[in-house]
Amino acid sequence: VSRADGEGRRADRALIEGAAAALKANFGARALTLAAAPGRVNLIGEHTDYNLGFVLPMAIDRWCVVAAAPGPRAGEHRVHSVQTGSTLAGPVLAESHAGAGWSAYPLGALAELARYAGIRDPRPLDLAINSGVPLGSGLSSSASLLVAVVTAAAAAWGVELGPLVRARIAQRAEHVHAGVPCGIMDPAASSMGEAGHALLIDCADETIRTVRLPPGVGVLVGDTGVRHALAGGEYAARRRSCEAAARALGAASLRDVTPERLEADAGLLQDDQLACARHVLSENRRVLEFVERVSAGDARGAGALMGASHRSLRDDFRVSCPELDAMVEIASGLPGVLGSRMTGGGFGGCTVTLCESASVDRFARDLSAKYRERTGRDGRVFAVEPVAGAGKIEESIGGS
Ligand code: ADP
Ligand code: MG
Repeated sequence: VSRADGEGRRADRALIEGAAAALKANFGARALTLAAAPGRVNLIGEHTDYNLGFVLPMAIDRWCVVAAAPGPRAGEHRVHSVQTGSTLAGPVLAESHAGAGWSAYPLGALAELARYAGIRDPRPLDLAINSGVPLGSGLSSSASLLVAVVTAAAAAWGVELGPLVRARIAQRAEHVHAGVPCGIMDPAASSMGEAGHALLIDCADETIRTVRLPPGVGVLVGDTGVRHALAGGEYAARRRSCEAAARALGAASLRDVTPERLEADAGLLQDDQLACARHVLSENRRVLEFVERVSAGDARGAGALMGASHRSLRDDFRVSCPELDAMVEIASGLPGVLGSRMTGGGFGGCTVTLCESASVDRFARDLSAKYRERTGRDGRVFAVEPVAGAGKIEESIGGS
């Protein structure tokens, strides 16, 4: 096995072989190109992105792998997902793949790459997708899929792409084809991650800076195993509250409002608007302070900010749920844990916990056992590492 990219870009061997095997089994093709793109976890900065604030995600060592080969049918791409177990096809030329189910993601990524590169008659591709990023749990399986497809197809079509451009193509595909108006955070983390680092993204101008995590600090992801159905509607409602708060204060976005100004003009806002704005403004400050603490090697101080972030999301922004609260509370009570919070949109999904890396496996076991005791649910808790962003994989599989 030879790999073109650095240590951080190493996807699991089993994932890679699974993707290549799926390509062969479903399309009879041998992999021409393999690419991997990581999922991500957001360390701090929640519900700040659409308010043009700050976020701090890191790419994690869970990858989506795509194997690509030339497709035999003119004008048609074919895609297979090991996770859905289904094979779908779609036209190489389409304004939108909306309504194509999960295949809107890979087909959309191909369409947007062709558009960006000015390819008017794209060569058909067969793609096999095999992902180690759990689908729909807030670790960005969607962006990792899109970025992996763009990376594989760019290699197959001979298109040179910088990592930021690649992230923007993926973002556009999610907007136009999957119908999800996502920010730059997910594709940027997947495309531009750096081993050992998180990314500080300023969502106002989309500038990105890498932030080294202190040595000796481990990161745990805890999946609560619940996804409450109200997540979508509540997300939209919170977004409206934030926008209404900014409008009432005569600002284009909450980014243009200082905490002092908010308190002085609190009377102009309805209660829910004020509470939402308080979260967003305080969260932006916490992100920047977190970066300062981490850069100064003060992991404990950074961890405390995660606790404050969780309370703000629970009490002011009101997007937590009993399962997230339970997992955060249990984690925060374990000696050696530095900080814990819900991560992602809320109403289920995952928590993220900072802890001493020496005992990360023990924390994972304790946290999942205590979570089961408390809630009766199976919570999957696992350690993650900050890894490099997407890359092509140079690999010869089975020599065939
Ligand atoms: P998240 O990005 O947090 O995992 P999303 O709802 O944004 O959650 O994206 C999940 C969707 O992305 C899935 O429902 C599916 O449509 C698509 N997707 C992601 N990974 C795969 C995969 N390996 N195979 C097929 N579809 C996938
Ligand atoms: Mg997603």
